[in-house]
Amino acid sequence: AMFESLTKRLEGIFQNLEGRGRLTEEDVNSALREVRIALIEADVNLKVARQFVDRVKEKAIGADVMGSLSPAQQVLSIVHDELVEVLGGTGESNKLDTNGNPTIIMLVGLQGSGKTTSAAKLANYLRKQNGSRPLLVAADMYRPAAVNQLKTLGKQIQVPVYSEPMGSDPVDICVHSLDYAREQACNVIILDTAGRLNIDERMMQEVVNIRERVRPHEVLLVADAMTGQEAVRVAKDFNDAVSLTGMVLTKMDGDARGGAALSIRTVTSVPVKFMALGEKLDAIQPFYPDRLAQRILGMGDVLTLIDQARDAIDEEEALQSQQKLQQGKFDLEDFLTAMHRLKKMGPLRQIMEMLPGFNKLASTPEMEEALEGDQLKYVEAMILSMTKEERRNPDVINGSRRKRIAMGSGTKVEELNQLLKQFTEMRTMIRQVSSGKGPWGQMMRQY
Ligand code: GDP
Repeated sequence: AMFESLTKRLEGIFQNLEGRGRLTEEDVNSALREVRIALIEADVNLKVARQFVDRVKEKAIGADVMGSLSPAQQVLSIVHDELVEVLGGTGESNKLDTNGNPTIIMLVGLQGSGKTTSAAKLANYLRKQNGSRPLLVAADMYRPAAVNQLKTLGKQIQVPVYSEPMGSDPVDICVHSLDYAREQACNVIILDTAGRLNIDERMMQEVVNIRERVRPHEVLLVADAMTGQEAVRVAKDFNDAVSLTGMVLTKMDGDARGGAALSIRTVTSVPVKFMALGEKLDAIQPFYPDRLAQRILGMGDVLTLIDQARDAIDEEEALQSQQKLQQGKFDLEDFLTAMHRLKKMGPLRQIMEMLPGFNKLASTPEMEEALEGDQLKYVEAMILSMTKEERRNPDVINGSRRKRIAMGSGTKVEELNQLLKQFTEMRTMIRQVSSGKGPWGQMMRQY
């Protein structure tokens, strides 16, 4: 999963540091050496990794040791801030310029990067989020299947697709599409331009020509995050040749180790605006550096989880659960409701990964099993075998109640114990995050 091994490594490093209490400079230095190795193993650009660690070191040495954070937490919080920086900073770097009428978004990239799929995902996203009326334009004349692929995708998301017969001039297609957009009252035009296997002169020239003729508001490079440093090189070449306004990083759901996401901004100074996490047409999200930094550090991404829940369920419900979470209230009924919603929201594992501390939970074999799907039925059976009081206040579930619930749900007491343990861990974390107390709370309070 996204950044899995990097997250595990970093969690290990900070746990070790936390266990030491007072930190000497040598403790910090050796932890940061490990951080650098972890980054390099995640395929982060060598120079970026070195600069990263140097900046953290500089800040750590000057840090105010009188604060409420433990020394290890201070280092962790500096690392968090630097991660946010290399991912794009705290500004609105992920914002699309949608002020045009129509707004023209041009997608460029190599074949296989996910350009055509991303064009459709982006159209779908803009239609749902901003109520835009997008038009997809099939201007990739080099991959014969691309035009039909875009038409098929357009149908699925009910977005019109403008195309011309094979062999037409891509620049003309893009220019003609502007009129078509006006006729169709579309206010966003997404151009799917030529992809090649490798960067070559002709492709770059074509991109430049289209750019000059239609003057797009955004020129976004679609790059495959799984290719790591190769994606960074491609981004640099494209940016040098055509000057990009942003990037879409695809295949972040795969075993993308993080190298591309963590290096691309520093190397090219082009912001990543979106990331794609799957083949489905709703698998695209704005790229939030702060949320991603938290995920990389194993702190979950509750905000994105809430966004996705909001898309999957109605506003009212979402608001209620958000309020409950913020008040630190979380009972077994919420747990069960969450499970049901999760099923609607997408692959369970991807969702669970957004919960704080997931990597620690997931590392138990029981949790791995629970995520496999069928186990969910048992979780459900156990919770349904509880009384209302037990679900609201699981702390009352003593030994004899445990036996009764296990019997009633056809499970073993050990399985119930496991569920309650996981629930308690999750609740503790949620409470700390929302109250600002405890290690998780102190961490979150910083931001
Ligand atoms: P193009 O040649 O750049 O237009 O690439 P396509 O859009 O045809 O995508 C190439 C392949 O990558 C297709 O099989 C897509 O389904 C797949 N793909 C695209 N984006 C993602 C993504 O975010 N995650 C995963 N897992 N697959 C993706």
